[in-house]
Amino acid sequence: MEDLIIIGAGPAGLTAGLYAARARLRTILLERFSPGGLILTTDWVENYPGFPDGVSGFELVDRMKRQTEKFGLEIQNQEVIRLELTPGKKTLVTDKGTLETKSLILAFGAAPQKLGIEGEDLLTGKGVSYCATCDGPFYRDQEVAVIGGGDTAVEEALFLSRFASKIYIIHRRDELRATKLLQERAFAEEKIELVWDTIPTRIVGEAGVEGIDLKNVKTGQESRLSLQGVFVFVGYNPNNELVKGQLELDRRGFVVTNNDMETSVPGVFAAGDIRSKVLRQVSTAVGEGATAAFAAGKYVESIDA
Ligand code: NAP
Repeated sequence: MEDLIIIGAGPAGLTAGLYAARARLRTILLERFSPGGLILTTDWVENYPGFPDGVSGFELVDRMKRQTEKFGLEIQNQEVIRLELTPGKKTLVTDKGTLETKSLILAFGAAPQKLGIEGEDLLTGKGVSYCATCDGPFYRDQEVAVIGGGDTAVEEALFLSRFASKIYIIHRRDELRATKLLQERAFAEEKIELVWDTIPTRIVGEAGVEGIDLKNVKTGQESRLSLQGVFVFVGYNPNNELVKGQLELDRRGFVVTNNDMETSVPGVFAAGDIRSKVLRQVSTAVGEGATAAFAAGKYVESIDA
């Protein structure tokens, strides 16, 4: 039996792994894809302390991974299919077998929320995207829409301005949610046009995106924009399928923890974007990962005593 299993190798999981390895806990970090998490979909990180000129999402995660390996953390490529969580026992059924552990850290993050409008599913991968870093270069000299008004929408619209000839930011209110600095940059970028008080109602096209139907929520006026790409950044949903019904979740489905990152089941901890909290950043994820690993170590000591 392991002392600790960490699920998810984004910044929270990797930091938990670093601290657990240095505490000499018998630990495995499980990841279904390759290490990185959502930060891999971010081109450039400017607000992670210690990198005054910024750092790419890829490089930041690669550095974190190398640091965990230096201290001997075992990272395994396994997808967890089922979790059985009780105060006494934590069992994981994966695509490669069954594992048991004394403590567990959930660091499997969140996934982009969809708009749920006509044309979205049909055209995903054919002009509808949830990752500008991945797909932006395909839109050189083309017109695109970005849906949303948060940090992700504005940051990704700015990234897209390197390629696209025009970017419409479609936002449902008359004020952006994004950090003021990002707002200033968006307002200063000539290629970006803000479309206020507006929601998309349909993405138009068959083999590829040809346009987007819009509705002004104040006037009710409907319109269509002809364009080739639609980037959706309207928030994230927690990846909570494995723990639904077993742990306390908040109204939106994020995992509730105490200050030590412990969930409603003793010995089960959560860190990073999966957690119920006010700020989702790399800098918050790493602190939570460290705290969760420390608290998991204390928990293992207490049940071994
Ligand atoms: P977010 O902050 O939840 O913003 C989502 C945006 O989408 C909001 O503007 C929201 O409008 C809009 N929206 C939600 N549902 C919609 C719908 N059905 N139709 C149209 N618009 C809809 O999500 P996020 O921007 O992805 O950010 C997630 C977290 O990551 C935040 O904590 C953010 O600060 C953080 N983040 C930070 C950075 C950075 O620091 N550089 C970069 C990216 C993300 P309303 O404003 O009207 O609610």
